[in-house]
Amino acid sequence: MKKLALITASVLIITVFAGFAPKNSSTPTPKPVDQGPPAWLIEADATPTPTPIRPTPTPRPTARPAGAAAEPTADESAAPDFENMPSEQPSSAPEATPTADPGFVKAGTPEAETVKVPILLYHHISDDFNLTNAISIISPRDFNLHMTAIKTQYTPISLREYVEFVNCTDGSKTLPTDPIIVTFDDGYLSNYEVAYPILKKLEIPATIFIVTDTVGEKSGDGKVNYSHFTWEQAKEMQDSGLIDIESHTNDHVKLGQLDIDTVNYELRKSKYQIEKHLGKTCDMIAYPYGSYSEAAIQASKKAGFIAQCLVGDDATDIDYEVNIPRDGVMNMTRITVSGTMGNVNIIEIVRKSIANKKID
Ligand SMILES: [Zn+2]
Repeated sequence: MKKLALITASVLIITVFAGFAPKNSSTPTPKPVDQGPPAWLIEADATPTPTPIRPTPTPRPTARPAGAAAEPTADESAAPDFENMPSEQPSSAPEATPTADPGFVKAGTPEAETVKVPILLYHHISDDFNLTNAISIISPRDFNLHMTAIKTQYTPISLREYVEFVNCTDGSKTLPTDPIIVTFDDGYLSNYEVAYPILKKLEIPATIFIVTDTVGEKSGDGKVNYSHFTWEQAKEMQDSGLIDIESHTNDHVKLGQLDIDTVNYELRKSKYQIEKHLGKTCDMIAYPYGSYSEAAIQASKKAGFIAQCLVGDDATDIDYEVNIPRDGVMNMTRITVSGTMGNVNIIEIVRKSIANKKID
């Protein structure tokens, strides 16, 4: 199940956050702020939250090939265990096998509680990767194959649609019985240049969790390994209605290892920056490295985050699970798609992950 190495709940410190504390030496130094209390320290319910632009529901796919392979962040170096992962790659493009109309389930009904919902996690997209950094990278070709495959075999929905479904109490929301969700972490330029056109072409919604302090940073400038997209590019994607930009903290830190003041800074600064630049509500977060603590979870809720991806920034066994509505949206898990998964059929990975999910 989920990683539960959490800080003892009994020491939940409800600290009055009277100014952000200097960050520890292992994290980047916060940018200086203007006079007066920083806007991101405002309590969640007082934070201006413009109406979010919701990705449009996607129509049912047309048949196409399924593909295989690759994925995520240069900074995540753990070698995944793919021992039990499927390794066969189709020798030729898989035949088009349109699936039957999957049907829909209504929120609040018993059958809606256990629909299995895979959330894919991608990072950088490039042909330039090798065995040492492939954990964070997938080739454009393979990404295109993956998207085409999931469009054929599943019904892509946005993460927000899923969150709204889970939180729906009046039965007004529905969920396809074969949903799949696409997400990205970090905010790489390749998401804008490579993934975005493919997602538009296939009408697949996606959520991109960005590190707000590195927006617009270029590779070679010393701060990032790969270039990140700019706020203008983020706005263009957000305004398309297909892409939703959310938080991956301000400095890509391990929230589970930081003091509460720094945790609050990371959560609220990133939320504030996204809302300021994009004119939308930022209320979902993906924890870098899957690192969190009970204190960080509580601070996240207090800051106004209504949905959290707690694991999935790594590529370990625990990252090959799917979600069910009954589990809620404060501890969502994702399937990390890695570049080291070359010759792997994404559909087989999803199927295996779905099969692995046991429902009590
Ligand atoms: Zn990350």
